[in-house]
Amino acid sequence: ELEGRVAIVTGSTSGIGLGIAEALAARGAAVVLNGFGPAAEIGGLCRRLAEAHDVPVRHDPADMGKPEEIACLAERTARAFGPCDILVNNAGVQHVAPIEDFPPDRWNAILAINLSAAFHAMRAVLPRMKARRFGRIVNIASAHGLIASPFKSAYVAAKHGLVGLTKVVALEAAEHGVTCNAVCPGYVWTPLVAGQVAQQALAHGLTEEKVIREVFLAEQPSRRFATVEEVAGTVAFLCSPAAASVTGTALPVDGGWTAH
Ligand code: NAD
Repeated sequence: ELEGRVAIVTGSTSGIGLGIAEALAARGAAVVLNGFGPAAEIGGLCRRLAEAHDVPVRHDPADMGKPEEIACLAERTARAFGPCDILVNNAGVQHVAPIEDFPPDRWNAILAINLSAAFHAMRAVLPRMKARRFGRIVNIASAHGLIASPFKSAYVAAKHGLVGLTKVVALEAAEHGVTCNAVCPGYVWTPLVAGQVAQQALAHGLTEEKVIREVFLAEQPSRRFATVEEVAGTVAFLCSPAAASVTGTALPVDGGWTAH
């Protein structure tokens, strides 16, 4: 149902972004992967996706912390595949520390990658989406875009900001056939979360199993991690014709966490 569409998924060499890229490719979209990693591995990902789903796939190395590179990402995509129809702002980083110990450079980097990058990317693709009267923008926020946890000041601020920004763009684009929604995952088992589990186990002298049960899944009523496929399926729905009137939402995929 997305045949002929061109999708950019930022931060898609790993985790949730890669799952989203795969879900969009499976529905027929041409996909631009973005993110870091060893060149050979990324080349392998592009070939695997292209062959499995018979769609064009390329990788763009833009650093989403750098506005000028984000503008280039949109331009290179337009030149290679045509103008972007689907933009998924997914690249994200995390740092966990009490605010008085929070390094200002980590604060700046998290705001740049998790919030400002979406602003720059939407700015770059919106004019052509509006002109062509079709666009789907999905911003991967977080349950932390709706509620807070301690020690995640930059992340919670950026994700709340991203939910607000999503609503503004939804209002501005609504008459032009362009939707803009946020998806708010709870804990999903990805390298980002595996890193936090290892860090907390070390910090608290607990086993990783105990950290998973008592720190992470204690928040999530389903008592399991959400899956990459569940988040990707939600994004695919928001990009589908059935979701044409769904805009300005912040949709939790969190096993009930934010229902507390
Ligand atoms: P991940 O660490 O597995 O993947 C992050 C991706 O972003 C990688 O491809 C990485 O190369 C890329 N990336 C990082 N910095 C970048 C930069 N400056 N420019 C371009 N790409 C960059 O993380 P994930 O868990 O898959 O997270 C993806 C998104 O989902 C993030 O926005 C995260 O905040 C959000 N999220 C994750 C969870 C979770 O539990 N995993 C929960 C809620 C929200």
